[in-house]
This record gives sequence, structure tokens and C-alpha cells, in this order.
Amino acid sequence: MIDETIEIKPCPLCGKAHKYILSIQRSTYLFGAASKGDIRKIKRLFTCPKSNETFESVLEIKEDERGIIAKLDIMGVVEEKKNGGQK
Ligand SMILES: [Zn+2]
Repeated sequence: MIDETIEIKPCPLCGKAHKYILSIQRSTYLFGAASKGDIRKIKRLFTCPKSNETFESVLEIKEDERGIIAKLDIMGVVEEKKNGGQK
């Protein structure tokens, strides 16, 4: 299981950019069903952290040598820096 992040910009609800944590499971077993470099379009629901409403967005994720995307979940939103003190 690999965690990645994706930025939705602009958010259709509030117009800001939000970064989400993705959990992607790739399957090497099915490797060959898709080619490296293919773009997978995956529709998921996201929650806008500003308005707490959900919206649908289509992610475009490139297949790579780690195997085809078998499962993709949205784990949450990356907290925005509030006072700039920490990374
Ligand atoms: Zn938003």
C-alpha cells in the first residue's frame, strides 16, 4: 500500500486548493492489463474542508511500473499550514 497525495485545484465548492491523501493499492498480478504511462480516470467523492460538503472529481492517475491501480481510497485532507511555523 502506497500513500500519495493529490491536489484538487480549484475546489468546485470554495475555489481554493486542497490536498488529499490517497491510499493506492497496486496489483502486479494484473500487470499487463494496462500499460505503463496509461492514464486511469477514477471518479471519487471528496470533502471540501472549508464547507464540509462533498463534491465529485475525476482523478487522472498514471499507471507506472509498480503495477496497475487495483484500489484507490481517499484517506483525508492534508491540513493546511496555519501559522507557518512547521512543515
Ligand atoms: Zn473547498
